[in-house]
Amino acid sequence: MIISASIISSDFTKFGEQITETEKAGVDWLHIDVMDGSFVPNISIGPFMLEHCRRVSNLPLDVHLMIVEPEKHIHTFAKQGATRIGIHTENNPNALRTIQEIRELGVKPTIVLNPGTDLSAIEYFLPFVDMVLVMTVNPGYSGQKFMPEMLPKITRLKKLIVDKNLDVLIQVDGGINHTNIDLVTKAGADVIVAATAIYKHVDGIKAGVHALRRI
Ligand code: ZN
Repeated sequence: MIISASIISSDFTKFGEQITETEKAGVDWLHIDVMDGSFVPNISIGPFMLEHCRRVSNLPLDVHLMIVEPEKHIHTFAKQGATRIGIHTENNPNALRTIQEIRELGVKPTIVLNPGTDLSAIEYFLPFVDMVLVMTVNPGYSGQKFMPEMLPKITRLKKLIVDKNLDVLIQVDGGINHTNIDLVTKAGADVIVAATAIYKHVDGIKAGVHALRRI
């Protein structure tokens, strides 16, 4: 199981130390949640954060764009060192073209679907992407409650990928912690995004990561 730590929940007053601690705790990737206040209600961080991540860590940078017109910004994120860039299918008529452009930039593309979006919306993306991100909360805020209603969607997606004999990872993002990580992995998730479970753990980052790994 791959763990991608969502840096948005880290303590920005000691960002460098927190990222070093995250890497030492055995996290596989860093997840960067980019929100623009239009596609989602919240505003978070921009491409400049990738440079800060790169200065303190060699971990792959897993960028999740929750923004309108992502095609205008993928070049900047690629230049700043993104390993993967995820874009949403909702309100995004050119999503497949943007996915292909991400690939041309030498970055691994991810297609993302909101809880209310059916799998049929991304079925034809599968041959073009490296990963599908299934949102298990409505995007926009960290610390929301996991939606168990998304478990059958993960299972159906896994079947779709296996039936088509494709090499596509399934990532889940939203409210993942030690109480539900076994449910999502059993349903077929390969990569979990964790924010609060790591950065708000009462015993610190290392304990947070170990609690996830133990399950
Ligand atoms: Zn995310």
